[in-house]
Amino acid sequence: MALRNVVKRGDAILTKHCREVTEINDRIITLLDDMAETMREDMGVGIAAPQVGVARRVCIIEPEEGRLVEFINPEILESEGEQLSTEGCLSVPGMIGDVVRPQRLVVKYLDRYGNEKTEEFTDFEAVVVSHETDHLDGILYVDKATNVREAGEEPQEDMTEVEN
Ligand code: ZN
Repeated sequence: MALRNVVKRGDAILTKHCREVTEINDRIITLLDDMAETMREDMGVGIAAPQVGVARRVCIIEPEEGRLVEFINPEILESEGEQLSTEGCLSVPGMIGDVVRPQRLVVKYLDRYGNEKTEEFTDFEAVVVSHETDHLDGILYVDKATNVREAGEEPQEDMTEVEN
């Protein structure tokens, strides 16, 4: 595994519609491994391939330790409800903002072994999945957020602070 550089806002790759993965080869497996290492190094709870410079439909989440989910070609089948989250992004360092996210998502995706999975995500996990899958369509949270501000301006308590 290796750390990869995280692309920052302003780089054109973050605005691209990423391409589907057609074959899960060694390059994709290495990408997944490197993304996990990079996400953990930066204390994130999720990261998407374009954030490490690869315009492919691959993203991962780790909303809590030991709960790593890897998505290849994720497709949102159902989206329901609303919740307001306060989140940040490894590609927009030092900032946070408030975003309306779905409360519940059902996502179809391939895992690293090529198995098709359909899984439900709710609450905080739905926030992270929504944030990461947005990246695959070239959407940053700051495109949707209100009250984008510098992180650390307010008390941490009562905040769902997300770095992904
Ligand atoms: Zn992000």
